[in-house]
Amino acid sequence: MLITIKNISKEYESGEATTKVLCDISFNIEKGEFVSIMGPSGSGKSTLMHILGLLDRQTTGTYLFEGEDVSKFDDDELANFRNEKIGFVFQAFHLLPKTTVLENVMLPLIYSKDKKNHEEKATKILTDVGLSHRVNYMTNQISGGEKQRVAIARALVNNPDVLFADEPTGNLDSKSGKQIMEILQELNDKGHTIILVTHETATAEHADRIIKIMDGEIVEDYKVKDKKIAKNEIGIK
Ligand code: ADP
Repeated sequence: MLITIKNISKEYESGEATTKVLCDISFNIEKGEFVSIMGPSGSGKSTLMHILGLLDRQTTGTYLFEGEDVSKFDDDELANFRNEKIGFVFQAFHLLPKTTVLENVMLPLIYSKDKKNHEEKATKILTDVGLSHRVNYMTNQISGGEKQRVAIARALVNNPDVLFADEPTGNLDSKSGKQIMEILQELNDKGHTIILVTHETATAEHADRIIKIMDGEIVEDYKVKDKKIAKNEIGIK
């Protein structure tokens, strides 16, 4: 099992008041799954993703990642573990400005144990996401959809065990959004585990399974019967 969480809760203290944002969340995610975590704004999706992505810690409950109890790690160990195992894609891309597409994708490799072939690796993954013609462009010279493809390439260049995508189409026009969903589906077909966070049913339905969250609790967890298949009209390759 890739991810096992049991009775996870998250509370925030401010002054005398305690706000419970996640309540008694339990599920498993297997290697190779494509799962959407879906819920309206304020339901706790980002909080849950931050815990699953080891960017934050739960207040109570257990979290096993590949069977390992991650709550026993100190902050440095957690950061190392996260860099090695997890890739992130966010709505706002978070690319470095004034640097090239290639440099952005090579960046995570600075910290990797493997010191060789960084440029080759980054170029290969950029080709996989349909950007071989953009490697030497500056990140401010490419479109939003292309930026998100760079972010996906950067998230994957260390070959993580899971890719988290938090509203990855939220800043994109519908055609670029479709292309991003198609790339995520292709990556999943190749064996990558993907956890997508979204408030949109239509986006969530590109996954094979939807975990629905409302007011910090899981209200549904089901397999998608009529999975949406993203097929972009222009072709990315
Ligand atoms: P979503 O991603 O579904 O929009 P969030 O996980 O961002 O939801 O937030 C869920 C709830 O937790 C919201 O009511 C939000 O105000 C609250 N919340 C999030 N972060 C904090 C924090 N650091 N302190 C207090 N409350 C927070």
